[in-house]
Amino acid sequence: MAKIALFPGSFDPITLGHQDIIERALPLFDEILIAIGENSDKTTLFDLDQRVAWITEAFAHEPKVRVVTYQGLTVTFAKANNSQFLLRGLRNPSDFEFEKSIAQANRQMESDLETVFLLTSARYAYISSSIVREVIRHGGDYTVFVPDSVRIA
Ligand code: ADP
Repeated sequence: MAKIALFPGSFDPITLGHQDIIERALPLFDEILIAIGENSDKTTLFDLDQRVAWITEAFAHEPKVRVVTYQGLTVTFAKANNSQFLLRGLRNPSDFEFEKSIAQANRQMESDLETVFLLTSARYAYISSSIVREVIRHGGDYTVFVPDSVRIA
């Protein structure tokens, strides 16, 4: 059976940290679905089409990666797409505490869906989409934090 991992997130925008997690997960899985969650009570800086386009371009060369969008529970979407694994990145202890609760709740709902965590590479551990958005809002050089596909007009 093909090993399919779902990497859920907002990706507002995708960063070098996300890209690093995806690239390092590629040898572990047959397919990685990068799943952008549409969350009604979360306002994003970039619209969904833009976020999809940036990720699609960043992984255009990688046949194992597919970009999808979803609403509702991540576990429901993962099961509907035959994913046996959820992929998440861990940067620091606060990510760990937060991710631990989510993973345990997800496991309670879908016991055969395993969450796999990769530790972020040290050089990207400080990068977050929220810091990148702040840099963008104030006209700073965001290009050092994101893949080349992220270009803001
Ligand atoms: P969410 O809205 O779920 O927090 P994000 O798009 O911010 O979504 O993050 C998606 C996943 O990527 C999470 O597992 C998060 O921990 C991970 N991640 C975010 N930034 C980095 C980074 N710099 N290095 C490694 N993983 C990261």
